Amino acid sequence: MKLLINTYNYNVKAKILKEYRNIMKPIIIKSNLITKVLSVYIDVCAITLYPFIIINKACDHPVIMNHEKIHLKQQRELWIVPFYVLYIWYWLKGRMQGMNSHDAYMSIPFEKEAYEHQYDFEYIENREASAWKRYINLT
Ligand SMILES: [Zn+2]
Repeated sequence: MKLLINTYNYNVKAKILKEYRNIMKPIIIKSNLITKVLSVYIDVCAITLYPFIIINKACDHPVIMNHEKIHLKQQRELWIVPFYVLYIWYWLKGRMQGMNSHDAYMSIPFEKEAYEHQYDFEYIENREASAWKRYINLT
């Protein structure tokens, strides 16, 4: 009986996990043209514009994809638009503090989280909600 219950729980957990993964599945667009058009101000290799991950074919690498998926999760938990507002705010804040464009970009908490965990392919599943907040004011 105990074994049956454990099997049942395992199946329920596996089903929930599978549904969760499907929900989290991004729409991936591999396009050199779109990334080139978006590279007017900064060099864009890959970008996450919920629910799309647009990636230059030359940048199609599991680590970069994992980095973008972390952004996808950040965007989802912030209901998308506030993510972009905060993203731009943190970049401007860095610029106002005298940072150059790249350093301001690297000071964005969303980027700090994504860069720190982009090599950890299980991070997305184990990540705590709003984990990006731990990177606010970290230098
Ligand atoms: Zn990023």
